[in-house]
Amino acid sequence: MSLDEYQRKRSFETSNEPSGEIKAGSAEGGIYVIQRHQATRLHWDLRLEMDDVLKSWAIPKEPPAEKGVKRLAVQVEDHPLEYANFAGTIPKGEYGAGNVEIWDRGTYKLVDKKPNKIIFEISGERLKGTYCLIRFKEDKNWLFFRMK
Ligand code: MN
Repeated sequence: MSLDEYQRKRSFETSNEPSGEIKAGSAEGGIYVIQRHQATRLHWDLRLEMDDVLKSWAIPKEPPAEKGVKRLAVQVEDHPLEYANFAGTIPKGEYGAGNVEIWDRGTYKLVDKKPNKIIFEISGERLKGTYCLIRFKEDKNWLFFRMK
């Protein structure tokens, strides 16, 4: 469905109404998705739109909806934005062979971003609230947990 008419009638520089765009590479947030990936080992792939790609982390245990549970989140290669809609079977012999399903999706808003710490508000179907990713020093390993 096109938002052309909605957008044409409004000036989003002077109105606080939502523009209806998720701006690619926006500093404020964007697409949020978690894919449940039954590969050699079951894991959940957290992806956040940043700088025109999906920054990605593989989480070996189910992501927490509640506070007080910290999960290891291993950063993996950036994925294209379109990957947020991918579900299906990756064939045997291919990288990540196995079944991918969309476990949660929605949007996120950045609250704070530093090289080793990202705080963001998730608006998903399963997960809602303020979450944090904290990186172990100069490592691919992060901790993912709900703050409030
Ligand atoms: Mn994966």
